[in-house]
Amino acid sequence: MVQILDLSAATQADLGSVAAIAKSAGVDFDDCYQCGKCSAGCPMAHEMDFLPRQVIRLLQLGQYQEALGAHTPWVCANCMVCSARCPQGVDIAAIMLSLRRAAKRAGLRPEKETDIFDDIFVGNIRRFGKSNEAVLAGMFNLKSGHLMQDVLNAPKMAVRGMIGPKLHSVHDKDAVRQLVDKCLAAEKAKGQAAQSGGEVSPS
Ligand code: SF4
Ligand code: SF4
Repeated sequence: MVQILDLSAATQADLGSVAAIAKSAGVDFDDCYQCGKCSAGCPMAHEMDFLPRQVIRLLQLGQYQEALGAHTPWVCANCMVCSARCPQGVDIAAIMLSLRRAAKRAGLRPEKETDIFDDIFVGNIRRFGKSNEAVLAGMFNLKSGHLMQDVLNAPKMAVRGMIGPKLHSVHDKDAVRQLVDKCLAAEKAKGQAAQSGGEVSPS
């Protein structure tokens, strides 16, 4: 259900965090004139607590904590429809990603299963250099507790070669692993800086 916006006063710290989100996403929130085109085309809008344009409005008003705790960035499928439709060239999908990373560093996981999926997906890429559907689905079912989820789809996936006894990997797995490790280390450093009160960029 879409919520009513909370317009309480923004703190200086909130304004600083909003500026960091804008920098990380490469956007200027003032470019948004609230036309709603992004929200009208969003395939996940029905699952969101704030519509994409409302998330931007929160940030325009300095309501950082509201935006950080929103479910919307975790429901976002990052399909980029909103970014493609925006007449002002605002990259809404990038804002969603930046907010999600910042929320995770702050210890917030509004959608726990999305976070579980993210971690398994990244681990999968780190290990094989590409996603293996059987590993992804199996580990997600175990960690989320949905043990039988999508099990009936397994035979069809096997027929189409999407799953099978052989795990797929890229030729140069080490190069991919190094790249993933570099990103994970950067995220960890930002999380530690956030805990110690240092300046943190949400990228
Ligand atoms: S489409 Fe662009 S200008 Fe319109 S509400 Fe969304 S972000 Fe703002
Ligand atoms: S990128 Fe996210 S917010 Fe934008 S249209 Fe897709 S699901 Fe909606």
